[in-house]
Amino acid sequence: MFQDIQLPSGESYKQPLGLFINNEYVQSSSDETIESIDASTGKVIAAVQVADATIDVDKAVLAARKAFPGWRDTPAVQKRDLLLKLASLVEENVEILAQVESLDSGKPIATNAKYDVLAISQVLKYYAGWADKAQGQSFCPDSNTLTYTLHQPLGVVGCIIPFNYPLAMMSWKWTAIATGNTTVFKSAEQTPLSVLFFAKLVKEAGFPPGVFNVISGTGAKVGDAMSKHLGIDKIAFTGSTAVGQMIQKAAAVNLKPLTLECGGKSPNLVFADADFEQAVKWTAQGIFYNMGQICSGTSRCFVQDAIYDKFVDALAKHVEETYIVGPPTDPNVLIGPQISKTQQERIQSYIHKGIDEGCRVALGGLGLPDTIAQSEKHKSGFYVKPTILADVKPDYAVAREEIFGPVLVVGRFSTYDEALEVANDSTYGLGSAIFTQNISQAHKFASQVEAGICYINSSNQLDLALPFGGVKMSGHGRELGEYGLSNFTNVKAVYVNLGSKL
Ligand code: NAD
Ligand code: MN
Repeated sequence: MFQDIQLPSGESYKQPLGLFINNEYVQSSSDETIESIDASTGKVIAAVQVADATIDVDKAVLAARKAFPGWRDTPAVQKRDLLLKLASLVEENVEILAQVESLDSGKPIATNAKYDVLAISQVLKYYAGWADKAQGQSFCPDSNTLTYTLHQPLGVVGCIIPFNYPLAMMSWKWTAIATGNTTVFKSAEQTPLSVLFFAKLVKEAGFPPGVFNVISGTGAKVGDAMSKHLGIDKIAFTGSTAVGQMIQKAAAVNLKPLTLECGGKSPNLVFADADFEQAVKWTAQGIFYNMGQICSGTSRCFVQDAIYDKFVDALAKHVEETYIVGPPTDPNVLIGPQISKTQQERIQSYIHKGIDEGCRVALGGLGLPDTIAQSEKHKSGFYVKPTILADVKPDYAVAREEIFGPVLVVGRFSTYDEALEVANDSTYGLGSAIFTQNISQAHKFASQVEAGICYINSSNQLDLALPFGGVKMSGHGRELGEYGLSNFTNVKAVYVNLGSKL
């Protein structure tokens, strides 16, 4: 059930391959396995056990159900201390967690995976702070009546996570645990290793058995079984819009409330009066970080006529110089491989389509990056060149559909009204960015853009105190911030009669 795996650093570690239920690694009841692939070489790292969609999902849900009353009634300060303890264990294990995450996902260790791991410790601390502060309201409508509200956990929350930020997206769903729920987590099939490894820290921190359970498996079988399960009271999902729709249907079986953090095609508007150099840098960061596998990535850039040519040239130059492609172990590399061969091919086909539709390749394009194509070790990795497709029109498929890779499309606009119309002409509504020195224009856009998040003169910054989530087909519900708490609790109204007689 464990396998010795060699990390990029040369050390080896014991990777659990079973399921994590009731604080123990246990064998799955099925014989199926899922292979985790090293995206930078295409080689198999390990095969994890797949949960049986009936027997093991039931086992994990039962464990969470049994643990629920005890965890719900655990004093708030103890919940807080356990979360803080876990955060410090994450910090103690940052090196190994970052290496496992990198191995499993292809994220560059130094410039990407390590930040993710440090961020999950911050998320756990942030929720530790809420664990003993969540409160309701009270009203005294007259001298004979006292009323108040209680914020109470929902029960068992099923958490379904995507491949792009395996540990980080898992950590955002710890709101569930901080607010007194118990959980069953399902990792993405491409990235099962890090979450399974993290589970041992949860036990070490002292969380009671059954509060945090982890199962591996495909979405079609295990994810679907969770969405339909009558013993699960809520699904918190991060992933694609198409799967979000399937989950919403399946969850109707017991009217499960949902948080759906889905896809996006977020606009990035650059006005002629913007701080040019900063706009170039943020625009690049907003799409090329994490190999473009960012749900809120500002992947649709529109630039005002007067600076259009100059901006595209400067952006291409900056990305070429800064976003160095290479193996995840190289500390200077910002662009590692995409998650899978399927994604690599899908992204390439979008680049192809964009060229066919009439885009000009301002940077990158089809084929492997040169240094990768020449590397015996990495040429079978899932690399894509950071690519800028210029002269895009808003109706091109590459300007409308989520590519989820290091591909930025750039088009032009002349007026604010035109820019706003293009920004809102999308089925999605997750992120949005505007670059301008005109403060009225900036705040007007923040108010008028159809999106859950708006960045003014930046892109994809993250503050844990702010809610994260989308509108339209980017999903519903919010994670993080105080708003996130209400997505994992029910509010109950209590009436106390202090003496009214009938
Ligand atoms: P995906 O939708 O393919 O898979 C996400 C998870 O859902 C996986 O664990 C998968 O196994 C599971 N799943 C698949 N089919 C299922 C089904 N029928 N029932 C239940 N579960 C099922 O997404 P992905 O490819 O892993 O991730 C990329 C997508 O995630 C992108 O669209 C991206 O925008 C989105 N995303 C959104 C956010 C956000 O916060 N809004 C954050 C990260 C990623
Ligand atoms: Mn992998």
